[in-house]
Amino acid sequence: MHRVVEGIVLRETDTKEADKILTVLTRSEGKIAVIARGARRKRSRIAASSELLVYSEMTLFQRGNWSMMDEAATIELFSGVRRDVELLALGSYFAELTELLAEEDVPAPELLPLLLNALYALGTLHKPQEQVKAAFELRLLSLSGFEPLLDGCAVCGRTAPEVPMLDVVQGLLHCKGCALNGPKGLSMPLCEDSLKAMRHVVSCPPKRLYAFSLEGDALRRMADAAEAYTAAQLERGFRTLDFYKSFRIHEAQYRAERNRTQKDAEQ
Ligand SMILES: [Zn+2]
Repeated sequence: MHRVVEGIVLRETDTKEADKILTVLTRSEGKIAVIARGARRKRSRIAASSELLVYSEMTLFQRGNWSMMDEAATIELFSGVRRDVELLALGSYFAELTELLAEEDVPAPELLPLLLNALYALGTLHKPQEQVKAAFELRLLSLSGFEPLLDGCAVCGRTAPEVPMLDVVQGLLHCKGCALNGPKGLSMPLCEDSLKAMRHVVSCPPKRLYAFSLEGDALRRMADAAEAYTAAQLERGFRTLDFYKSFRIHEAQYRAERNRTQKDAEQ
């Protein structure tokens, strides 16, 4: 009784002997747990398909409650992401978010392509990390029942607030001057361009997700709002996100240091 699924590994855990327990996001069955027997042996034929963020065609068979991986053929290794520690850290955050929001044994016809396209945008198209991260977070939350209401100010109804703000706890747009009630509110500042990009991300056809361009402060506003919105809606932080951000901080320090050295050299 074998079955074939296409899926990507969201989490891998070493277990007894040379086995791994995998959390896999599949198109047809949603999130499933898979035992990959012998995956840590050197010559295992399923070793590559048992690695984090590898997308494969997996042949599974059922033993009691468990799906056992019998054979697998990799479809996409996402080596551009997996070779770069910083991108791998960001991809791991995407995997952690997806694992949290995907349902078990419920088909995931939208979540799987969303994750695959995000990894492709990072590793192959080399889209800006902030853009991919913000679009992925907002779209994933929207698909999972946490879509923010961005049509107009929740208080006065204006569709183009002069200084738009996103209340990340309530998921509501409002003008800076139209304060929303509630002691637990946290509002992030947006601008015309960042609001336009966010509206695009929550409503566009899947293939157009990254078809927007934002730079500088507008991109940073969208990125900060999307990250705060994710944390507020899901009411938690993420270990993988902290790890990713530690790379970004080091990179910023390195760049500042390099600029200083260059300036010194020029003088
Ligand atoms: Zn208003």
